[in-house]
Amino acid sequence: MIDVWKDPEGVALALEEIFESDFARALIRSQSAGASAETVERMERQVKPRSLAWGYYCFADYLLHLDALRQAGVAFAVRDLALCEAEGFIALHRARSAFEGKHPACSACGLRQQNRFGAVCPGCGAKFRRKKG
Ligand SMILES: [Zn+2]
Repeated sequence: MIDVWKDPEGVALALEEIFESDFARALIRSQSAGASAETVERMERQVKPRSLAWGYYCFADYLLHLDALRQAGVAFAVRDLALCEAEGFIALHRARSAFEGKHPACSACGLRQQNRFGAVCPGCGAKFRRKKG
């Protein structure tokens, strides 16, 4: 058995995979209006499969839940967190930053982009300026 509590790198990777697959599925939902079930299924098969043991996603889900509680204003003291949970929050922060770096939000409408290289926002049509050099 792998002790996921002691592998913050793996936990961060699991979180990143969760963010990426949620993002890919949301994109499929928004693009598949009117598509046949077969087409939707084909699109879903292109979502990258999970690469780690089940325990990582289990702990990752738990961290996301704790974070959702925190964001909803449920206060808990740092001393109430186990060390692995505190470490987990660092992994969550790292994974979220990596995800947001890969999928920057449109400055006009906030839509997360598929990558950093698009020229136009598919949500609102805003044009992105490229840095030269
Ligand atoms: Zn936009």
